Amino acid sequence: MQRITNASLKQLNSFGLDSTAKELVLFENEEEIISYLDKYELDKYLILGGGSNLLFLNDFDGVVLKNNCTGISILDQDNASVIVESKAGEEWDNLVRFCVDNEFYGIENLGLIPGSVGAAPVQNIGAYGVELKDVFHSLIGYDLINKVKKEFHFDECNFGYRESIFKNELKQKILITSVRLKLQKERLFKLNYRAIQDELGNLNKDELTIKDVYKTIKNIRESKLPEVSKLGNAGSFFKNPEIDPEQFSQLKSKFHGLVAFPVDGGNYKVPASWLIEQCGFKGKKVGNVGCYEKQSLVIVNYGNATGEELFNFSKTIQETVFEKFNIMLTPEVNIIQ
Ligand SMILES: Cc1cc2nc3c(=O)[nH]c(=O)nc-3n(C[C@H](O)[C@H](O)[C@H](O)COP(=O)(O)OP(=O)(O)OC[C@H]3O[C@@H](n4cnc5c(N)ncnc54)[C@H](O)[C@@H]3O)c2cc1C
Repeated sequence: MQRITNASLKQLNSFGLDSTAKELVLFENEEEIISYLDKYELDKYLILGGGSNLLFLNDFDGVVLKNNCTGISILDQDNASVIVESKAGEEWDNLVRFCVDNEFYGIENLGLIPGSVGAAPVQNIGAYGVELKDVFHSLIGYDLINKVKKEFHFDECNFGYRESIFKNELKQKILITSVRLKLQKERLFKLNYRAIQDELGNLNKDELTIKDVYKTIKNIRESKLPEVSKLGNAGSFFKNPEIDPEQFSQLKSKFHGLVAFPVDGGNYKVPASWLIEQCGFKGKKVGNVGCYEKQSLVIVNYGNATGEELFNFSKTIQETVFEKFNIMLTPEVNIIQ
């Protein structure tokens, strides 16, 4: 275990913000977590993974807990499926590549999502028609309030679109230490996304392999998203909003180009990127911050932006979209005060 006071978080958040933490505690194994929790009372603290879904508004005046435990193993399997367990500190894409290499089907569409395995259930990560919940089996974590180890199964996690119990009722209460996924051994792909279809069109192959699909996702992501090491960002800043049928028809009559997709329950999901683009933000740069030129949903740090500058820019986007469409965008990124 390492304890660092006045620790720089610059390398630990994908916006590249030069914030510091009063204390940073790095855990290398679970025994260290248990003994730390036994010894210390937590007051103000933050659980940190890879820092790719966070916006630090200021320096963090508390303890940052970072679980660096890694390791991937097979817990159980039969002819049809396999349960893979990964420690929370493992890089998410390492787990995807492990599954791709072993031909375990289910998370290849989630390749290259930055961050740690432990954070994946927190916002039920998703991309290209697949969400973590589709393959989730269970997870283990430490209840930081009651200081006990707990297991959570699918039904207890309240997964939704970029949501889970760990982002709501149990926010910052459970330090996730390992995640188990149930993957299939039979070749089964979800390829109906337009971008995937377009990219596969260039491949010209009779039978796709899991490696082909992973490579396809990699190509799409690399062509659309900025590289964190070159341009600080946290992926999609906002969630895609849902509107009811009445609002949909009102807006459609006013904005003929409105794009929306029906979802369960009769509502419509509107791509936040379309709304932001219609307000003229795509590629717009204001001082050190802006909207990425190829994807307006991605707010970027063009240089030495502060958390406050990024946050204020996000507020301007929210207000402008609200004024034009009467839709309030909700941040997907966790704002840390
Ligand atoms: C370029 C880019 C592309 C992205 N694309 C996608 C995408 O396609 N789909 C998608 O869903 N997301 C995407 N994201 C967002 C991000 O990658 C995910 O949200 C990811 O799961 C965050 O992981 P992290 O380890 O960096 O979490 P962090 O940013 O460190 O933390 C995120 C939240 O999870 C909590 N947390 C972290 N670790 C733990 C733990 N062990 N136990 C309990 N709580 C924990 C934190 O307290 C925080 O509230 C993208 C981000 C970037 C920068």
